[in-house]
Amino acid sequence: MQISQRLLETPAYPFAELAKTKRALLEQGADLVDFGIGDPDLPTPGHIVEALCRAAHDPETHRYDESVYGIPPLRKAIADWYKARFGVAIDPDAEVLRLIGSKDGIAHLPWAALNPGDLALVPDPAYPVYLRGTHFVGAESYVMPLAPGRGYLPDLDAIPEDVARRAKLMWLCYPNQPTAAVADMEFFERVVHFARRFDVLVALDMAYSEVTFDGYVAPAILQVPGAKEIAVEFHSLSKTYNMTGWRIGFAVGNREVIKALADLKSNVDSGVFAAIQHAAVAALTGPQDCVDRMCAVYRARRDILVDGLRGLGCPVEKPKGSFYVWAPVPKGYSSEKMADQMLKDAGIISTPGGAYGAFGAGFVRFSLTVPGGEEKVSEAVARLKDKARISWQ
Ligand SMILES: *Cc1c(COP(=O)(O)O)cnc(C)c1O
Repeated sequence: MQISQRLLETPAYPFAELAKTKRALLEQGADLVDFGIGDPDLPTPGHIVEALCRAAHDPETHRYDESVYGIPPLRKAIADWYKARFGVAIDPDAEVLRLIGSKDGIAHLPWAALNPGDLALVPDPAYPVYLRGTHFVGAESYVMPLAPGRGYLPDLDAIPEDVARRAKLMWLCYPNQPTAAVADMEFFERVVHFARRFDVLVALDMAYSEVTFDGYVAPAILQVPGAKEIAVEFHSLSKTYNMTGWRIGFAVGNREVIKALADLKSNVDSGVFAAIQHAAVAALTGPQDCVDRMCAVYRARRDILVDGLRGLGCPVEKPKGSFYVWAPVPKGYSSEKMADQMLKDAGIISTPGGAYGAFGAGFVRFSLTVPGGEEKVSEAVARLKDKARISWQ
């Protein structure tokens, strides 16, 4: 049987591999500390689950989604949430699109915005979907390296002018996955200037906008005047409300792009179970102290892990956003060797930085979504020293 060339050219999705290794080790009875996949270990807050149950009992929710953009109460809740959070007005009838998780929108945007042979600017290291979505439509990618010396922000001035002129789409993600870096408004202003000059659509992935620490508040690119002409943002309820399994997120921004993505998706899927959309309304309009409590949990784990790594000589800072710690490996290690040694000698699951692109080599990613919480993180720090015998000194 034939398999498509573009699929054959695409390596297995890295986290599927990781899940397989983990299952195998657990079956052998291994005592693991799991810093692997970025999937919250905390449950969805109760009031959101209750909203789902209530809505599921209403037969009105049992039918196809009434609009390809999503149910009107959700679009209004998104626009209200966005205005309260970022101070920017969003038209709920034209500038909002609910998604089957933000991955749905991220993977499908190239189908709506690119032609074969077009060029997309893709950061490296990055969430693999930007590059792969681009590849699936036969478009090309130009890698924007994210370097620690630049705070993991791409160097826009280093993009050659002929590349910038050819580019149709630029992917960005802040707070960043996997590096945990954050961006400021000044950077977004420069991005908007670049995008207007070269007529490039900017797609900003904001999956971690609400997972922040120490008083840091993540900005949005749509806060830059005029940004709606060139930008869309992808938001997710997955990380903010521990709803990864529910599959609900949304896009906001440029209305032509929102319409194009909605038109594309109307040919691909038939929407989201309305009860889940009502639960998303409850999440966005309900009490937000659950988000503060979640951030406090990750911050406590972050402090234990970063202090522990620093105690071993690892030059890593406490990140202000996302639930990751992105640590450089000691001299003489590759990211794969480090991740392997931690797993085999100490039962610690991490992700080698190379899984996120060539510029991720030399780093490992720890996700703070560790089942067992602070106790397990402390245990991992002890095991790093005593069992894996890894030291940066
Ligand atoms: C988790 C994640 C997403 C997608 O989450 P959904 O569950 O599809 O909403 C998007 N981008 C990044 C960088 C992520 O880490």
